[in-house]
Amino acid sequence: MISIKDLTKVFPSNKESLTAVDHLNLDIAKGEIFGVIGYSGAGKSTFIRLLNRLENPTSGSIEIEDKDITSLSKKELRTTRQEIGMIFQHFNLLWSRTVRDNIGFPLEIAGVPSQERKQRVDELIRLVGLTGRENAYPSQLSGGQKQRVGIARALANNPKVLLCDEATSALDPETTDSILQLLVDINEKLGLTIILITHEMHVIRKICHRVAVMEKGQIVEQGDVLDIFLHPQQTVTKRFVEQVM
Ligand code: ATP
Ligand code: MG
Repeated sequence: MISIKDLTKVFPSNKESLTAVDHLNLDIAKGEIFGVIGYSGAGKSTFIRLLNRLENPTSGSIEIEDKDITSLSKKELRTTRQEIGMIFQHFNLLWSRTVRDNIGFPLEIAGVPSQERKQRVDELIRLVGLTGRENAYPSQLSGGQKQRVGIARALANNPKVLLCDEATSALDPETTDSILQLLVDINEKLGLTIILITHEMHVIRKICHRVAVMEKGQIVEQGDVLDIFLHPQQTVTKRFVEQVM
């Protein structure tokens, strides 16, 4: 479903340029929960930001359902972005808007009429378990509830892919578990492909089908989660596996 070939991102700098993503190749199947793990600076966020074109690649290609998203016009990019939802470590909610209006925001942008928008937002509120909190402001919510708003907002336009960048890193272990469970439910209910970035192996173990280990902008090892746990090959992978032993 997602096919990434030779993807490279170089950040120019006046001293020496920095290659954050380095000739990365990866295929992700439809409906998969795919984890990417790596230490700080490995290039995980840059990689995920390339996937929804928050960053422009220096070279290489990204195909999502046979459409190369690295060569799109501005207009095409806008529609393609609607097909890719994203959630963040610090939620990135609009603080002056209620839960309902945060979730409805992407629908407003897409020009969905208000009656239809209301219906869709009601559905999403039920899906993420926020019934009763519709009119609260983000500052009145717990971290877990804020991430539920983030997830509902990311799903508003019915995306094909959900990108999660350290989506549970700001949450306590119990809340982390409940958000991960919500992601599994959504994956099963909607058949949504999920790409999840983390530096925590227990997150991978809990919900991912496959995992790739990233180091210095490259994928150094990948496979089924169970195989990686049982037979880690690279030193970096062994260190991650030891985290949860
Ligand atoms: P973390 O786990 O800390 O979030 P990461 O794996 O997400 O790390 P990235 O944020 O992708 O890592 O950064 C990879 C490298 O690219 C780092 O050396 C970083 O300093 C550099 N980098 C990221 N964004 C930019 C930018 N906009 N301009 C210049 N360099 C950048
Ligand atoms: Mg990051």
